Amino acid sequence: MGIEVDGVTKTYGAVRALVNVSVTFPTAQVSMVLGPNGSGKSTLLAIVGTLATPTVGRVRHHDLGKDRGEVRAALGWLGHESLCYGDLTGRENIVFAARLHGGGRPLVDRVVARFGLAPFADRPFATYSRGQRQRIALARALVHEPRLLLLDEPTTGLDAAGTALLVDVVAEERARGVTIVVVTHDAAFAAIGDRAVTLERGRLVEDVSRETSGPR
Ligand code: ADP
Ligand code: MG
Repeated sequence: MGIEVDGVTKTYGAVRALVNVSVTFPTAQVSMVLGPNGSGKSTLLAIVGTLATPTVGRVRHHDLGKDRGEVRAALGWLGHESLCYGDLTGRENIVFAARLHGGGRPLVDRVVARFGLAPFADRPFATYSRGQRQRIALARALVHEPRLLLLDEPTTGLDAAGTALLVDVVAEERARGVTIVVVTHDAAFAAIGDRAVTLERGRLVEDVSRETSGPR
Protein backbone atom coordinates (compact mmCIF):
# COMPACT_ATOMS: atom_id res chain seq x y z
CA MET A 1 0.00 0.00 0.00
CA GLY A 2 2.35 2.70 1.21
CA ILE A 3 1.83 6.41 0.91
CA GLU A 4 -0.50 8.00 -1.58
CA VAL A 5 0.03 11.61 -2.59
CA ASP A 6 -3.14 12.72 -4.30
CA GLY A 7 -3.34 15.89 -6.39
CA VAL A 8 -1.04 17.93 -4.17
CA THR A 9 -0.35 21.58 -4.92
CA LYS A 10 1.74 23.68 -2.53
CA THR A 11 2.06 27.42 -2.92
CA TYR A 12 4.17 29.92 -0.98
CA GLY A 13 2.65 33.27 -1.95
CA ALA A 14 3.25 33.54 -5.69
CA VAL A 15 5.64 30.56 -5.75
CA ARG A 16 4.15 27.24 -6.82
CA ALA A 17 6.47 24.71 -5.19
CA LEU A 18 4.30 21.72 -6.22
CA VAL A 19 1.63 21.60 -8.91
CA ASN A 20 -1.00 18.83 -8.85
CA VAL A 21 1.42 16.04 -7.90
CA SER A 22 0.02 12.52 -7.60
CA VAL A 23 2.40 9.69 -6.74
CA THR A 24 2.42 6.56 -4.58
CA PHE A 25 5.41 5.54 -2.48
CA PRO A 26 5.02 1.77 -1.91
CA THR A 27 5.90 0.02 1.34
CA ALA A 28 9.27 -1.78 1.42
CA GLN A 29 10.53 0.08 -1.63
CA VAL A 30 13.19 2.73 -2.14
CA SER A 31 11.78 5.65 -4.13
CA MET A 32 14.25 8.24 -5.39
CA VAL A 33 13.12 11.82 -5.99
CA LEU A 34 15.21 13.65 -8.59
CA GLY A 35 15.13 17.08 -10.19
CA PRO A 36 16.91 20.42 -10.38
CA ASN A 37 17.28 22.91 -7.51
CA GLY A 38 13.97 24.50 -6.63
CA SER A 39 11.85 21.86 -8.37
CA GLY A 40 9.90 21.00 -5.20
CA LYS A 41 11.72 17.89 -3.94
CA SER A 42 12.17 19.01 -0.33
CA THR A 43 8.64 20.37 -0.27
CA LEU A 44 7.29 17.00 -1.40
CA LEU A 45 9.33 15.19 1.25
CA ALA A 46 8.09 17.54 3.98
CA ILE A 47 4.48 17.01 2.89
CA VAL A 48 4.93 13.21 2.88
CA GLY A 49 6.38 13.50 6.42
CA THR A 50 3.48 15.73 7.63
CA LEU A 51 5.99 18.51 8.33
CA ALA A 52 4.22 20.71 5.77
CA THR A 53 0.57 20.72 4.71
CA PRO A 54 -0.64 20.79 1.10
CA THR A 55 -2.43 23.90 -0.15
CA VAL A 56 -4.62 21.60 -2.28
CA GLY A 57 -4.87 17.80 -2.29
CA ARG A 58 -4.08 15.21 0.36
CA VAL A 59 -1.72 12.49 1.51
CA ARG A 60 -2.81 9.10 2.84
CA HIS A 61 -0.40 7.09 5.00
CA HIS A 62 -2.12 3.75 4.62
CA ASP A 63 -0.03 1.52 6.88
CA LEU A 64 1.13 4.09 9.40
CA GLY A 65 -2.04 5.48 10.92
CA LYS A 66 -4.62 8.14 10.33
CA ASP A 67 -3.45 11.09 12.36
CA ARG A 68 -0.32 13.17 12.21
CA GLY A 69 0.90 11.95 15.61
CA GLU A 70 0.97 8.32 14.47
CA VAL A 71 2.80 9.22 11.27
CA ARG A 72 5.37 11.30 13.14
CA ALA A 73 6.00 8.48 15.63
CA ALA A 74 6.83 6.22 12.67
CA LEU A 75 8.92 8.81 10.86
CA GLY A 76 12.70 8.87 10.46
CA TRP A 77 13.61 12.29 9.05
CA LEU A 78 16.87 13.61 7.63
CA GLY A 79 16.43 17.17 6.36
CA HIS A 80 18.87 19.91 5.48
CA GLU A 81 19.39 20.64 9.18
CA SER A 82 20.97 18.12 11.54
CA LEU A 83 18.56 18.81 14.46
CA CYS A 84 21.56 18.22 16.76
CA TYR A 85 22.80 20.25 19.72
CA GLY A 86 26.37 21.52 19.28
CA ASP A 87 27.34 21.29 22.94
CA LEU A 88 26.18 17.68 23.30
CA THR A 89 28.31 14.85 21.95
CA GLY A 90 27.14 12.92 18.92
CA ARG A 91 26.23 9.99 21.14
CA GLU A 92 24.26 12.21 23.53
CA ASN A 93 22.33 13.66 20.59
CA ILE A 94 21.42 10.15 19.48
CA VAL A 95 20.45 9.09 23.02
CA PHE A 96 18.24 12.17 23.22
CA ALA A 97 16.52 11.29 19.93
CA ALA A 98 16.08 7.66 21.04
CA ARG A 99 14.45 8.74 24.31
CA LEU A 100 11.95 10.94 22.47
CA HIS A 101 10.68 7.69 20.97
CA GLY A 102 11.03 5.59 24.14
CA GLY A 103 14.18 3.82 22.93
CA GLY A 104 17.23 2.93 25.01
CA ARG A 105 20.93 2.05 24.85
CA PRO A 106 20.77 -1.07 22.66
CA LEU A 107 19.22 0.95 19.83
CA VAL A 108 21.84 3.69 20.27
CA ASP A 109 24.72 1.20 20.25
CA ARG A 110 23.32 -0.35 17.09
CA VAL A 111 23.31 2.88 15.05
CA VAL A 112 26.72 3.88 16.42
CA ALA A 113 28.05 0.64 14.93
CA ARG A 114 26.03 0.89 11.70
CA PHE A 115 27.31 4.36 10.84
CA GLY A 116 30.89 3.91 12.12
CA LEU A 117 30.55 6.61 14.77
CA ALA A 118 32.73 5.14 17.55
CA PRO A 119 35.93 7.10 16.75
CA PHE A 120 34.25 10.48 17.28
CA ALA A 121 30.90 9.82 19.02
CA ASP A 122 32.03 11.19 22.39
CA ARG A 123 33.19 14.63 21.27
CA PRO A 124 30.89 17.68 21.10
CA PHE A 125 28.82 17.79 17.91
CA ALA A 126 30.06 21.36 17.25
CA THR A 127 33.61 20.04 16.69
CA TYR A 128 32.65 17.65 13.86
CA SER A 129 33.47 17.82 10.17
CA ARG A 130 30.58 18.03 7.73
CA GLY A 131 30.68 14.31 6.96
CA GLN A 132 30.83 13.39 10.66
CA ARG A 133 27.77 15.58 11.25
CA GLN A 134 25.94 13.88 8.42
CA ARG A 135 26.70 10.43 9.86
CA ILE A 136 25.37 11.50 13.28
CA ALA A 137 22.28 13.03 11.68
CA LEU A 138 21.61 9.78 9.80
CA ALA A 139 22.04 7.74 12.99
CA ARG A 140 19.67 10.13 14.76
CA ALA A 141 17.06 9.68 12.02
CA LEU A 142 17.25 5.88 12.22
CA VAL A 143 17.76 5.16 15.93
CA HIS A 144 14.09 4.49 16.74
CA GLU A 145 13.66 2.02 13.87
CA PRO A 146 11.20 4.14 11.88
CA ARG A 147 8.70 2.59 9.49
CA LEU A 148 8.84 5.61 7.17
CA LEU A 149 12.29 6.90 6.25
CA LEU A 150 12.60 10.26 4.47
CA LEU A 151 16.12 11.35 3.54
CA ASP A 152 16.88 14.70 1.88
CA GLU A 153 20.26 14.59 0.10
CA PRO A 154 21.66 12.03 2.58
CA THR A 155 25.05 11.52 0.86
CA THR A 156 25.96 15.21 1.23
CA GLY A 157 29.40 15.41 2.85
CA LEU A 158 29.84 11.64 3.15
CA ASP A 159 33.08 9.99 2.05
CA ALA A 160 33.06 6.77 -0.01
CA ALA A 161 33.00 4.62 3.13
CA GLY A 162 30.11 6.63 4.59
CA THR A 163 28.11 6.31 1.38
CA ALA A 164 28.79 2.55 1.33
CA LEU A 165 27.49 2.25 4.91
CA LEU A 166 24.37 4.18 3.91
CA VAL A 167 23.78 1.95 0.89
CA ASP A 168 23.86 -1.08 3.22
CA VAL A 169 21.57 0.56 5.77
CA VAL A 170 19.02 1.50 3.11
CA ALA A 171 19.02 -2.09 1.81
CA GLU A 172 18.54 -3.45 5.35
CA GLU A 173 15.70 -1.04 6.09
CA ARG A 174 14.02 -1.90 2.80
CA ALA A 175 14.23 -5.61 3.75
CA ARG A 176 12.69 -4.71 7.13
CA GLY A 177 9.65 -3.37 5.26
CA VAL A 178 10.33 0.33 5.67
CA THR A 179 8.88 2.82 3.17
CA ILE A 180 11.87 4.86 1.99
CA VAL A 181 11.85 8.11 0.01
CA VAL A 182 15.18 9.74 -0.85
CA VAL A 183 15.91 13.08 -2.49
CA THR A 184 19.31 12.92 -4.17
CA HIS A 185 21.56 14.54 -6.77
CA ASP A 186 24.01 11.65 -6.50
CA ALA A 187 23.52 9.51 -9.62
CA ALA A 188 25.39 6.50 -8.21
CA PHE A 189 23.30 6.57 -5.05
CA ALA A 190 20.08 7.06 -7.04
CA ALA A 191 20.84 3.80 -8.84
CA ILE A 192 20.06 1.76 -5.69
CA GLY A 193 16.43 2.85 -5.85
CA ASP A 194 13.54 0.63 -6.95
CA ARG A 195 12.21 3.58 -8.89
CA ALA A 196 12.85 7.23 -9.54
CA VAL A 197 10.41 10.09 -9.89
CA THR A 198 11.54 13.40 -11.37
CA LEU A 199 10.18 16.84 -10.56
CA GLU A 200 10.54 19.91 -12.76
CA ARG A 201 9.19 23.27 -11.64
CA GLY A 202 6.85 21.58 -9.19
CA ARG A 203 5.46 19.04 -11.63
CA LEU A 204 6.07 15.32 -11.71
CA VAL A 205 7.49 14.74 -15.18
CA GLU A 206 8.87 11.20 -15.01
CA ASP A 207 8.29 8.03 -12.98
CA VAL A 208 10.60 5.14 -13.83
CA SER A 209 10.48 1.78 -12.04
CA ARG A 210 13.16 -0.88 -12.14
CA GLU A 211 11.90 -4.36 -12.84
CA THR A 212 14.49 -6.01 -10.59
CA SER A 213 13.22 -5.94 -7.02
CA GLY A 214 15.17 -8.78 -5.47
CA PRO A 215 17.92 -8.41 -2.85
CA ARG A 216 21.16 -6.75 -3.87
P1 ADP B 1 14.19 21.54 -4.05
O1 ADP B 1 14.26 20.75 -2.77
O2 ADP B 1 13.76 20.73 -5.23
O3 ADP B 1 15.47 22.26 -4.35
P2 ADP B 1 12.18 23.08 -2.63
O4 ADP B 1 11.08 22.11 -2.45
O5 ADP B 1 13.04 23.36 -1.45
O6 ADP B 1 13.07 22.66 -3.89
O7 ADP B 1 11.56 24.46 -3.11
C1 ADP B 1 10.66 24.54 -4.21
C2 ADP B 1 10.31 26.02 -4.43
O8 ADP B 1 9.53 26.50 -3.33
C3 ADP B 1 11.52 26.95 -4.52
O9 ADP B 1 11.24 27.96 -5.47
C4 ADP B 1 11.62 27.52 -3.13
O10 ADP B 1 12.24 28.78 -3.14
C5 ADP B 1 10.16 27.60 -2.71
N1 ADP B 1 10.00 27.45 -1.25
C6 ADP B 1 10.26 26.34 -0.52
N2 ADP B 1 9.99 26.53 0.78
C7 ADP B 1 9.55 27.81 0.88
C8 ADP B 1 9.10 28.63 1.97
N3 ADP B 1 9.04 28.15 3.22
N4 ADP B 1 8.71 29.90 1.70
C9 ADP B 1 8.76 30.38 0.43
N5 ADP B 1 9.16 29.67 -0.64
C10 ADP B 1 9.55 28.40 -0.42
MG1 MG C 1 15.83 20.50 -1.42
